Amino acid sequence: MKYICTCCKKKYNIDKILIRCTECFEPIELQKFNNSKINITKDNVFERYEEFFPFNNINFNMSLGEGNTPLTKLNNISSNYGFKEFYIKNESMNPTWSFKDRGTFTCFLHANNMNIKNVGTVSTGNMAPSVAAYAAKNNYNAYIFVSEDIPEEKLLPISVYSKTLVKVIGNYSSLYYKSIELGNEKGIYFMNSDVPFRVEGSKTISFEIFDQLNDKIPDVVLVPTSSGGNLRGIYKGFEELMLNGYINKIPKIVCVQASGCSPIVNANKKNKKKIDKIENPETIASAIKNPYPPSGNKVLNMLDDDSFISVNDEEILLAQNYLSYNGLFAQPASCVPIAALPKLVERKTIKPSDTVVSILTGAGIKYTSSVKNNISNIIEVGIDNLNSIID
Ligand SMILES: *Cc1c(COP(=O)(O)O)cnc(C)c1O
Ligand SMILES: [Zn+2]
Repeated sequence: MKYICTCCKKKYNIDKILIRCTECFEPIELQKFNNSKINITKDNVFERYEEFFPFNNINFNMSLGEGNTPLTKLNNISSNYGFKEFYIKNESMNPTWSFKDRGTFTCFLHANNMNIKNVGTVSTGNMAPSVAAYAAKNNYNAYIFVSEDIPEEKLLPISVYSKTLVKVIGNYSSLYYKSIELGNEKGIYFMNSDVPFRVEGSKTISFEIFDQLNDKIPDVVLVPTSSGGNLRGIYKGFEELMLNGYINKIPKIVCVQASGCSPIVNANKKNKKKIDKIENPETIASAIKNPYPPSGNKVLNMLDDDSFISVNDEEILLAQNYLSYNGLFAQPASCVPIAALPKLVERKTIKPSDTVVSILTGAGIKYTSSVKNNISNIIEVGIDNLNSIID
């Protein structure tokens, strides 16, 4: 098993930390797994799909119980928009409430194989608490770099797990690349958004969807996209199912972004082959607010031409409301696909006969400030007048 560049196809040994191709600087990935069989006697996705990972055995001592999340059917959404079936893949059920835990687990398995004890990440949102939690569980030293303007609401959940939490003063967008340099110099494994083993972890989302739909695949999968790492992993999961003869096509994977920060969607609109950096990104969907996504070029060039869409903050907040009335509280970034549904149906990216899965990437409970306007809906009544509110 080797790493292979997603662009120029140069190969590298996997016994080292490598994040990007040293030739063309595009992302690298693990070669695709073939001759892999699903172990149908196992329930846990990492055991069931063990042959789709480069580990001799999966060390579950390092696990916090990631993955194996529910696929919840929402009939009123599919009937409202006029297509066959709609499901939410509820990643808020992960140990630190986002899909990031899947890739953090596979990165820790890799770090363990290489005997590396120093890890790190660059994150403003969900990756930081995820890496910090697995570091705590496994007694690793974790350098967590956050931006100086991170709100307290996001900082505190990281601080719960982390001993080395660092606010970085300066240009945050260059930190992804700075951390790669620092990691190389000091032997620290920076488990950033689209590193190869994190992308491997996201494959398990596709594997579970395949299992949960009883060995069928959906027609369309909607993915809120920032760095592009998760989308690449979901795509690779389906590719490997196909390569091993379990399915005969890959679902249409749709990249959904917030219009205040949509470098990949913009490039698609302008028929470009490379993304441009967004200068002043602004959106409520902070978990997908990456102005220059490291896997952006790859995502842009791997999907169908009609598989890119963006929605504005107003649409995102309405979608958040819509989901909450279905009993699911998602953070704004995770609501962008729901906000995109009307347009996707209108332009026929979603067809009436389609089964659609949307990835609910992270929990709303982490960022309750996004629903602060709800305060005005709360009813106040005296204890002796409770019957007055019941009609
Ligand atoms: C990280 C994250 C994303 C974006 O994933 P990428 O792999 O960076 O594209 C989307 N939603 C949530 C909640 C996230 O934490
Ligand atoms: Zn390359």
